[in-house]
Amino acid sequence: MALHETKDARARDADTDVFTSALSGQILPKYRMPEDHSPSEVVYSLLHNELLLDGNAAQNLATFCTTWSDDGVHRLMNECLDKNMIDKDEYPQTAEIEARCVNILADLWNAPKGTSGTGCSTTGSSEAAMLGGLALKWRWRARRRAEGKPADRPNLVCGPVQICWEKFARYFDVELRQVPLEPGATGLVPHQLAAHVDENTIGVVAILGVTYTCDYEPVAEIAAELDRIQEEHGWDIPVHVDAASGGFVAPFLHPDVVWDFRLPRVASVNTSGHKYGLAPLGVGWIVWRTAELLPADLVFDVDYLGGDMPTFALNFSRPGGEVIAQYYLFLRLGRGGYRRVQQACADTAQYLAGEIAGMGPFTLLYDGQGGLPAVSYTLADPAGAGFTLYDLSDRLRMRGWQVPTYPLPADRQDTVMQRVLIRHGVTRDQIALLVSDLRAAVEHLAAHPQPVPATEPRSGFHH
Ligand SMILES: *Cc1c(COP(=O)(O)O)cnc(C)c1O
Repeated sequence: MALHETKDARARDADTDVFTSALSGQILPKYRMPEDHSPSEVVYSLLHNELLLDGNAAQNLATFCTTWSDDGVHRLMNECLDKNMIDKDEYPQTAEIEARCVNILADLWNAPKGTSGTGCSTTGSSEAAMLGGLALKWRWRARRRAEGKPADRPNLVCGPVQICWEKFARYFDVELRQVPLEPGATGLVPHQLAAHVDENTIGVVAILGVTYTCDYEPVAEIAAELDRIQEEHGWDIPVHVDAASGGFVAPFLHPDVVWDFRLPRVASVNTSGHKYGLAPLGVGWIVWRTAELLPADLVFDVDYLGGDMPTFALNFSRPGGEVIAQYYLFLRLGRGGYRRVQQACADTAQYLAGEIAGMGPFTLLYDGQGGLPAVSYTLADPAGAGFTLYDLSDRLRMRGWQVPTYPLPADRQDTVMQRVLIRHGVTRDQIALLVSDLRAAVEHLAAHPQPVPATEPRSGFHH
């Protein structure tokens, strides 16, 4: 064997050990693509190690999103890597499965029987909210024009909404009238509506599962108040329900809460498949009560790759795997399975609420009953505690727990709170360990009072 061949062979052999390879001896490039390729196993391992710096998703108690999936989901996601949701002509079965999911959700949310569901998958609730908001704006504008009235000053009325509605309002030129919180309230209170709606209101957004505290806004009472306002002023104002989280919780845990298409005023509903829908990240849904509520001129008939198909979406290409995974979960769990999963989460949330209430320094804002499987709480005596909830978050982070601290929205921004979400895959044992860490952290902080009672928020809150 020639000398240079031996050397090459040795160099190749060195490459087979990830940590003696050329790439692992370097700091990974941040600004310029490398000149040449590297072995897949080496690059994979180096990235795998870099990602260990991320928080551990299983201990992320801040997120509503799916952090655990079974093997069937993993396999289907892998098999569907190449499916483009938009290519309905090329992947007609993926398109068919999307339509089945829309039908199943329309049925779950009690849309009028006898028609197939009107709606579509999206990348999440944010895109779904844009589509729902656009339909509201289009219908309001058509009505105003038909009446010969100006249609240039649309507004949308809501309580403490998720950031996606602020985006909708800014991107699509709608005034967002966010009703400030009343003392003691955690969401929109129906009697507040009269002072905020008018003839230019395209709709009211009600939230099933308020992002901050996790309780439900009273959708039926909001609809009833809008009935009364219609009688008084003649304004027929539709409701869009942002059920990002609650859309997959209320039907199973709170079947008697009337929030969905059972209310004639509810025109559309969005949900996040990747939250309590249990699908992996990247899928949301919007469903309209009937086909008439989706203005035809928002739907594009795209003649593409040999087919003519209607689409209403902000994206064009989009992965199909999450939609398949959603359908898999519908079949795998069924209604009974979803009920058991959400009930297990709610039971764990109630257990945590009991422990937190008994600990001493906390007052519960939401005890995990009647809304999402979650707990939110505040310090009973913020001035006298000797520490802030921000300090407590930092302390819990030492054990890997990510428990967010943030202020309530206007006008209750002086109340700083913490929130823990219980999702599929978060176990009772894990939460019992959190409780003992919480207790130890409180004891430590109480024994070592922090000098500055910081009341100002330290970080943004956008979950
Ligand atoms: C999470 C959430 C959203 C945004 O949903 P994404 O699926 O993350 O885009 C909107 N509204 C509410 C109430 C939410 O909880």
